[in-house]
Amino acid sequence: MARYTDPVCRLCRREGAKLFLKGTRCYSKKCSFERRQAPPGQHGVRRRKVGDYGMQLREKQKIRRTYSVLERQFHGYFEVASSTPGVTGENLLRMLELRFDNVVYRMGFAASRAEARQMVGHAHFALNGRVSGIPSQQLKPGDRVEVRETHRTREPFKEAPDIIRSRQIPEWLSVDPAKLSGAVLTAPRRDQMPLDLNEQLVVEYYSR
Ligand code: SF4
Repeated sequence: MARYTDPVCRLCRREGAKLFLKGTRCYSKKCSFERRQAPPGQHGVRRRKVGDYGMQLREKQKIRRTYSVLERQFHGYFEVASSTPGVTGENLLRMLELRFDNVVYRMGFAASRAEARQMVGHAHFALNGRVSGIPSQQLKPGDRVEVRETHRTREPFKEAPDIIRSRQIPEWLSVDPAKLSGAVLTAPRRDQMPLDLNEQLVVEYYSR
């Protein structure tokens, strides 16, 4: 499985926004974006004029990097989103939100999407009672996610109930911290996806 392995904080600086890729560190004073916001590289501080294409490209990269999806897979999501009834941009975000690793992150089992992806890949979770280790799997309303019984006492989940109680869980999900389980109640609407992203620019980018 191909993945991005370079330092992730430079991605926040590149996109000019906090992408929250490092879990608890992103909310602390150690966040490097708080200390230095210029784009990375020797010419990062140079002021540049950004045209329409530049804005579309940056927004596409920002969304793709937020969910840690590589280009080919992201384009595949767009193709499906544009052939699905409804608003293409919203369909795209919904598909990204319903990825198995993102649902695990949103439920509070992991501090970041990267950690959630690793947890899913290590088969810590059961989906509808069956072990599943595919981070990109699309979930749907009614799906149940739970930490496998034999894994509940393992290191990543020792503090999990307290962490989950301290997190704000989106209204399209339900979580039972004591049982380390949750469910997808509905597919998220745009107003239930609190993302500072302009998905319409992505539609324009791929429609050129
Ligand atoms: Fe981005 Fe988090 Fe790194 Fe801050 S700590 S720059 S939010 S990945």
